[in-house]
Amino acid sequence: MEKWPLGVFASIDAGLGVKLEVAHELGVPTIQLHAPQKATRTPDHAKEFLARLSDLGMRITAVFGGFEGESYADIPTVTRTVGLVPPGTRSERTQEMKEIADFAALLGVDTVALHLGFVPHDPSDPLYREVLSVTRDVCDHCKKQQQALNLETGQEPADTLLGFMSDVERDNLFINFDPANMILYGSGEPIEALEKVGKYVRSVHCKDAKWAENPGREWGTEVALGEGDVDMERYLRTLDKLGYHGPLTIEREIPQEPERQKAEIGRALMLLEGLKKKIG
Ligand code: MG
Repeated sequence: MEKWPLGVFASIDAGLGVKLEVAHELGVPTIQLHAPQKATRTPDHAKEFLARLSDLGMRITAVFGGFEGESYADIPTVTRTVGLVPPGTRSERTQEMKEIADFAALLGVDTVALHLGFVPHDPSDPLYREVLSVTRDVCDHCKKQQQALNLETGQEPADTLLGFMSDVERDNLFINFDPANMILYGSGEPIEALEKVGKYVRSVHCKDAKWAENPGREWGTEVALGEGDVDMERYLRTLDKLGYHGPLTIEREIPQEPERQKAEIGRALMLLEGLKKKIG
């Protein structure tokens, strides 16, 4: 397989990704797909969708779960609303995550991913055990259909994440590394973090951000690729050193500005093409 095929985060009818037509116009061979709404997650839709992708010459490398009621408005809101951590919505979302994995299986996709939510940093916190248990439950469901579960990074410092990955004790649990999230959430220098968790990294986002004045208390700022504090060349060189040669999936979370989103992703693709040539 080609080293580092380029990709974008895309969606059909739900989520922050670019539309399929836009992904096609951008000329990328791969997408990560934000899971469509429940009504769309049927065998017939899967078949139709696969035919359309094949016409467009694209393949899906991962399906991302997302849930009604999640908000990324600020860090406390993320803690309260995102992923499988919040107790009030946990059981219904766990069920839905399994259904999303089933839909991914219908699409022939062997990787599902999600923002798990804020894993407590203290393993003696009772919530930590609950999150371990729900993660095992989803991993075991995925395992039955030969799928991996990739956790999006950002909310946890690398050491917390490493401890958590090992405590789950499942061999199909991996990481979708997002360097910008480390900056946005203020959870650590991204390249250092990548080196620490590298052995688990099976998919990545190419996204950039600038540090907040008070990291961890307020959001950093997401910016166009190459304009932030990640250092894309160092990022790719580190991925190369770690032996990661999978898709480079661009994520630019400004769906409210589709024209700008498309233009910036177009420039991001050129930047990554250039770095791919340079690094080889
Ligand atoms: Mg991401």
